[in-house]
Amino acid sequence: MRHFAVVGSGPAGFYTAEALAKAYEGSAGNGARIDILDRYPVPYGLIRFGVAPDHQSLKAVSKRYDKVADSPGVDFIGNVTVGTDLSVAELLEFYDAVILATGAPHDRRLGIPGEDLPGVVGSAAFVGWYNGHPEFADLDPLLDGTHAAVIGNGNVALDCARILSKTRSEFHGSDIVGHALDALDRSAIRTVTILGRRGPHQIAMTPKELGELGHLDAALPVVDLKDFPPVEADDALEPGQRKSITILREFNDIRANKAKTMIFDFFAKPVRIEGAGRAERIVVERTELDDQGAARGTGETYEVPASLIVTSIGYSTPPLAGVPYDERGGKFRNETGKIADQLYCVGWARRGPSGTIGTNRPDGYEVAGLIAAAMPPGGSGERKGAAGLKALLEERGVMATDYDDWRRIEESEAANARPGSPREKFVRVDHWLGALDR
Ligand SMILES: Cc1cc2nc3c(=O)[nH]c(=O)nc-3n(C[C@H](O)[C@H](O)[C@H](O)COP(=O)(O)OP(=O)(O)OC[C@H]3O[C@@H](n4cnc5c(N)ncnc54)[C@H](O)[C@@H]3O)c2cc1C
Repeated sequence: MRHFAVVGSGPAGFYTAEALAKAYEGSAGNGARIDILDRYPVPYGLIRFGVAPDHQSLKAVSKRYDKVADSPGVDFIGNVTVGTDLSVAELLEFYDAVILATGAPHDRRLGIPGEDLPGVVGSAAFVGWYNGHPEFADLDPLLDGTHAAVIGNGNVALDCARILSKTRSEFHGSDIVGHALDALDRSAIRTVTILGRRGPHQIAMTPKELGELGHLDAALPVVDLKDFPPVEADDALEPGQRKSITILREFNDIRANKAKTMIFDFFAKPVRIEGAGRAERIVVERTELDDQGAARGTGETYEVPASLIVTSIGYSTPPLAGVPYDERGGKFRNETGKIADQLYCVGWARRGPSGTIGTNRPDGYEVAGLIAAAMPPGGSGERKGAAGLKALLEERGVMATDYDDWRRIEESEAANARPGSPREKFVRVDHWLGALDR
């Protein structure tokens, strides 16, 4: 029997567990036991804490993950933080292989003056706040000014801008947490400027997410056609990107009077954030593209008013003691997912923060393939697996949880839901644990 520990129950963790279970399935008594560990008693990683609450259909992928958790040989061990409750080295003593699927939950910094002023928040924090992440439940973003800015030109930036611009009724059916819904309902924000260092052709926004902005109840997307290359230049783009640019151009044709605007400001590089005791404005330098397609400052600056500034410029994986780390890439140092003998990584912890939920699937399958090649099914190891891990956790007073516990939490959250909403999430670890009768 082989024992594998997958650390992290986001998409990458579940796809890897699924692939390992398949690879070792049916190897006559000498198969594998796969434990999926998570620092929280609730699974799914960014499916729960990242994917927008008004995009419920995307969250349905969690049903597939439930099937993995229910499959023979797979267990979920929640409420265990690797790096705090036990080290990677200790985990390696219990398991034949450890696969780090810890994601990339830290916001990258802009590195400009004024970034630490009140009113400036990273998108991981802002998204975590409206999605009920326990670390960010108390964020209390400043929503009392009329102007906000989102820095970044990816789908997460779009999520943040859209959430800031929707009306209360547009959240019907979502699982946005109650504290965020109430605060957004009281918000004074009327203008959200979306700043991108490069131009429309360089955006990383997908057609579906962009298209939604054209149909919001109270907010109008605004573009300046002067920022766009001639329309013929769109022909050189791959089809998805061409579609996105077409949607952006068409925003210019929308004729409607709405209370809020979402302004796309391209070729705009934040230089500093200013304000008396809190953010009031961003000083931005106009840019142009150089021969390599990178943004080059033109020296011309202007101000964008914003008392809430959400930075959405990427994420990094927190390092773990003893695990080689790639500082520049903000992820574990690895060769196609292998870090060292017995130690692997998948998902955002392997590749960095890009790609969709589905991108993590081939990633997990590839690493499971490497493991199966190194430890062919049918062989047996000497490790203790979950028995050893659980004994150590008990000795340390760590209350590990399982998938039945998660189901109890899930039921309580569903029972607490607002009408029309699938759940009202608990936003504190002790509330999750309080929902368990033990
Ligand atoms: C705001 C946002 C919105 C997104 N929206 C979409 C979308 O609409 N559609 C789409 O296709 N993709 C979307 N994505 C991308 C998608 O969420 C990622 O591709 C995917 O979640 C990455 O999976 P992962 O498993 O690597 O990391 P994660 O999903 O982050 O999972 C990591 C897991 O590891 C656990 N963990 C971390 N550290 C430890 C530790 N030390 N010990 C134990 N457990 C630990 C965490 O609790 C978490 O459960 C979005 C991403 C973000 C940030």
